[in-house]
Amino acid sequence: MTLTKKSKFLTLKTPIQYIKGVGPKLAQVFEKRDLLTVEDLLYYFPRAYEDRRLALQVSQLVPNQFASIKLQFIGIQVVSMGRTGKKLYDLSFQDSTGKLHCKYFRLPYRSYLERFQPYEVYRIVGRPIIYRGRLEFHHPEIRDVREEEEDQDQIIPVYTEIEGLSSSKISKIIQSLILELPKLEIDDPLASTVCLDYNLIEKKRALELVHQPLRDESDLISKMRASFQRRLIFEDFFWFELLMANQYHNIKKEKAYEIGVSDLQWQNVLKSLPFELTKAQKKVIDEILFDLKKQGPMSRLVQGDVGSGKTIVAFIVALFVIEAGYQVAFMAPTEILAEQHFLNAKKFFDNKFKSVDFLVGSSKASERKDVLEALQNGQTHLLIGTHALIEDPVVFKKLGLVIIDEQHRFGVNQRAQLKKKGGNPHFLVMTATPIPRTLALTLYGDFDVSTIDELPPGRTPIVTHVVGETKKNQVKKFILDQVLLGRQAYIVYPLIEESEKLDLKNAQDEYEKLVQEWPQLKIALLHGRMKPFEKEEIMESFRNGQFHILVSTTVIEVGVDVHNATLMLIEHAERFGLSQLHQLRGRVGRGQHKSHCILMTGYALSEEAKFRLSIMQETTDGFKIAEADLELRGPGDFLGSRQSGDFGFKMASLTRDVELLELAREAAFKILQKDPHLLDLKYKAIKNELLKRQEKAQLVQIG
Ligand code: ADP
Ligand code: MG
Repeated sequence: MTLTKKSKFLTLKTPIQYIKGVGPKLAQVFEKRDLLTVEDLLYYFPRAYEDRRLALQVSQLVPNQFASIKLQFIGIQVVSMGRTGKKLYDLSFQDSTGKLHCKYFRLPYRSYLERFQPYEVYRIVGRPIIYRGRLEFHHPEIRDVREEEEDQDQIIPVYTEIEGLSSSKISKIIQSLILELPKLEIDDPLASTVCLDYNLIEKKRALELVHQPLRDESDLISKMRASFQRRLIFEDFFWFELLMANQYHNIKKEKAYEIGVSDLQWQNVLKSLPFELTKAQKKVIDEILFDLKKQGPMSRLVQGDVGSGKTIVAFIVALFVIEAGYQVAFMAPTEILAEQHFLNAKKFFDNKFKSVDFLVGSSKASERKDVLEALQNGQTHLLIGTHALIEDPVVFKKLGLVIIDEQHRFGVNQRAQLKKKGGNPHFLVMTATPIPRTLALTLYGDFDVSTIDELPPGRTPIVTHVVGETKKNQVKKFILDQVLLGRQAYIVYPLIEESEKLDLKNAQDEYEKLVQEWPQLKIALLHGRMKPFEKEEIMESFRNGQFHILVSTTVIEVGVDVHNATLMLIEHAERFGLSQLHQLRGRVGRGQHKSHCILMTGYALSEEAKFRLSIMQETTDGFKIAEADLELRGPGDFLGSRQSGDFGFKMASLTRDVELLELAREAAFKILQKDPHLLDLKYKAIKNELLKRQEKAQLVQIG
């Protein structure tokens, strides 16, 4: 860009150095944070707001919560640390409620300490932490109060410092930019379209307020619902959901096999089942059948808690697709699970004269050849396997439906991979990890979602116990009791090999110990390093009741279904995440006998680990657990902003903003439903922006 200092007009793309108060030198500092243009700076949002109306006191400080507090300076202690002789600067402050230390391990600049006068009052801004049992600030920003008198009762934005450029300096620069804002041209495709319907302020106004918030909104700001926050969060989600909506409509526009199912077919299936389907299962099958009949390929996510009976739903749908003359691919994330599905499928399909086959990465070359041949000439109706199914040499004659079990374990876009194989199969993905609604709407935004929200009858709830390692002997006795009652047990360990660092017992060692201790019992060992056929053999024997106890790593985490297993002991449970614990616990409680899950913990649990385990004890509802999981992993900052960086959101948070996400989704889908090609002139700006973003996201082009 050829721009000189004389240029009167700023645009969004003007380099930062032409902003008042910024020269080439400062521009270089900003550049270190990739802040290059006027636009970048406008979007450099405050990390928090300092509410100066609150007269906060030392006794009211809360660990890790952003604070702004006025205190009297008492003195400095300089401590030399260890052999390195590095200095620690310990500044003490006080108010009537107590003393407070601010520590610097390096000084912001050389003469920093000269500014502090005894008994003067300073403002300290930052996040206090607990250090060696005491609440203190490390590297806070300290300001002279005298300088700030004029904005005594304002809400002040606090920016993340950049290379010694303090928040107040950044603020000054941005404030001067805000003065230019009225003259600046800022596209706002939502202004004349979505803003009215959803009560949103205009973008320019939002960008002004984010740096210069209104006092009236201070309470809303702390809830992230001030007018500018609503607008900016909504916008983050809106573009994301518009891409999703567009993708969705594009998929639906494609041609696909239309498959109808007669009442007679339904009746026949229902009659052949060993149990009655739950209402929820029937409802979900109905939703799927509706998709299959409709124009355009299905893309549907079925979510249902562990044990809710997703497999049979998939089998029934597969049967209908096969009866209509097509082939079905059924993919599972592990060989163990694929094998289990294969065995079940044979029972289900054999007596219906449909042929089922099996293909995994470790299938022998000769077998593989036969499998592929039968598939290609259409002899095989249903092929079950792992990721091997969608790899190159696998050719179907007429693939009508792809089912993916435990979709969250794959993490790649299989649809894109499958497309390369030609044809346009229906797509059914299943997940047992209930996803919080926000994540479902983002990760699976272009899917229709069905939920199996009911467990088959006759299940007794699993009782969960959290116990320390000191209770090991009682736990063992409990296992023995269960086994003597004729039940089976899993014992799961986090690691297979000894790791000095983590000091975890490994499954192998424990297995050997147990074998010696209980020579009268049949105990098996299963871990990820075994050959696939070994694993399958062991699982098969366990399923048939030939082992009392299965000592295992997390290879059994998903899908494994053995009704007679009623006890799940998880060692070092504190090492597992919530959803993993929930999945593992879901391996029991699958038959009519009462089941137990014992979460055994090592020593010195972190607060977070304790919380995780307490959730497990409180609820078996996978959705609640998923919400808690998301809550735990997202920091949920008070007065903060910006996380969920993975999605490129500037302000939105997936843990906090679910209702705005739903609104934005509604808005996006509504627009595309009304005007799929965005031909209406009033959508022109939206269309342009969509195209831009699409290019970035490399998604399907709009038609
Ligand atoms: P998940 O949803 O975790 O994949 P599965 O499909 O493995 O669950 O089903 C768990 C168990 O419940 C299986 O043994 C299955 O046969 C059984 N099951 C499924 N549906 C019903 C039902 N309606 N009534 C009784 N048992 C059922
Ligand atoms: Mg399953």
